[in-house]
Amino acid sequence: MEFKSINPYSDKVIDTHKGMSDKDIEKSIEKSYRAYKSWKRKGIEERVKLLTSLSENLKENVDNYAQIITQEMGKVLTESRAEVNKCASLCDYYASYAEEHLADEGVSTEASYSAVQYQPLGIILGVMPWNYPFWQVMRFAIPALAAGNSVLIKHASNVFSCAKAIESLFVLSDAPEGLFQSLTIDGKTVEKVIASPMVEAVSFTGSTQVGSKIATLAGKYIKKSVLELGGSDPFIVLSDADIEKAVEVGVRARMQNAGQSCIAAKRFIIMADVADDFMDAARAKVASLKIGNPMEEGVQMGPMARQDLVYSLNEQLSESLMKGAGLIAGGKIEGNIFHPTLLKSITPEMPVFYEETFGPMMSVCTVESEKEAIDFANMSDFGLGASIWTSDLDKAKALSRKIEAGNVFVNAKVTSHPKLPFGGVKSSGYGRELSSFGIKEFTNIQSLWID
Ligand code: NAP
Repeated sequence: MEFKSINPYSDKVIDTHKGMSDKDIEKSIEKSYRAYKSWKRKGIEERVKLLTSLSENLKENVDNYAQIITQEMGKVLTESRAEVNKCASLCDYYASYAEEHLADEGVSTEASYSAVQYQPLGIILGVMPWNYPFWQVMRFAIPALAAGNSVLIKHASNVFSCAKAIESLFVLSDAPEGLFQSLTIDGKTVEKVIASPMVEAVSFTGSTQVGSKIATLAGKYIKKSVLELGGSDPFIVLSDADIEKAVEVGVRARMQNAGQSCIAAKRFIIMADVADDFMDAARAKVASLKIGNPMEEGVQMGPMARQDLVYSLNEQLSESLMKGAGLIAGGKIEGNIFHPTLLKSITPEMPVFYEETFGPMMSVCTVESEKEAIDFANMSDFGLGASIWTSDLDKAKALSRKIEAGNVFVNAKVTSHPKLPFGGVKSSGYGRELSSFGIKEFTNIQSLWID
């Protein structure tokens, strides 16, 4: 089997990757197991040394890695650079905090000493998506490695050049052989890896449909799993919000990465008395976005990552227009570029409301009350993030508790931060990444009792 990397802007094949045989996979798993056995015995200083080296090498080679990302999946260069730099800050964060997060926690009981201690688990498999091809891999791998595990990655088939580049980054940073390996395999072959008795757990980031399959496999082989799945984040604008800022941030939150972000604002829920102001400003902002070749400086949005993704988004648009949505801007397709699109009058019966739209599609509906806004926000199978815009911060805090989502941001776009746990509820998945919660996901949380 051979995999092709296709530049989504030029449609040209830029690299090919030979698929691994069953024998190759077995060898990689065995190598990973040997690396784990030795890595788990190393002290935290040794692990921190690797994280520091990874961070330095990411920063030194930011332009090189950014170009690989942009050429392979089409995000604009400034966003690719930001992604690489974010990976470096993640390494810095765990270099500073891993020891504290993994420290034994004494517990007062009837024992002479009792405590909780965090031990590594073994080989952890990461099955990862293409949309943030460096960040998603590192967000999973760095805390897992800092906790003393070894890591295998099955990256998305359209970004195997990025996978190769990350593997080389680990070599450049003097990681022990086999500690981090990328498997050049397709989705169907993932079961073989999960089934291996040497693999202890799986972390999946991707669609809800595939996430359900991974969870089924994890259950079948009794392996721990974390699922980071899709989202249809609400962006709620109340009457007392700063509309100018809400539009500015809202358009960015929707159009970043050509709309291909799990935590992009997807359903804009606007109070009726400010809806006209919001729409007028949003229309101007969407129309002003510079689209084109993502390798050119100044371009704000490039192509979507694959042709099939363009088609799926277009189907969601067509069906929603048939059901009464109003097209205010965009809706045009050129190659793999989907022009930034603004829709009004969307309803819960339309795919743009009840499905995840993974592209530059800003879908707006209006509501008459705050209660209706929260009801609409929660009227979704997903529960990843939500953004609330209001100048009344006490109200915002109270409303945040009514939102069914793993992340609520007030007067800001939803984002991930190394110091805060990240993850979803409902069909957006389970488990948490980042912060102290993320590093503990792939540990054996061991109780110790000494009498
Ligand atoms: P996807 O189609 O679910 O693919 C994700 C990964 O699963 C890829 O590596 C894919 O490999 C693999 N895969 C496909 N079929 C499989 C199977 N039957 N068994 C095992 N693995 C299989 O998702 P995507 O299109 O890459 O990513 C977009 C989705 O990810 C969106 O829904 C987005 O919201 C979500 N996402 C969530 C987060 C989060 O943190 N919650 C972050 C980013 C993205 P192949 O490429 O070889 O098919």
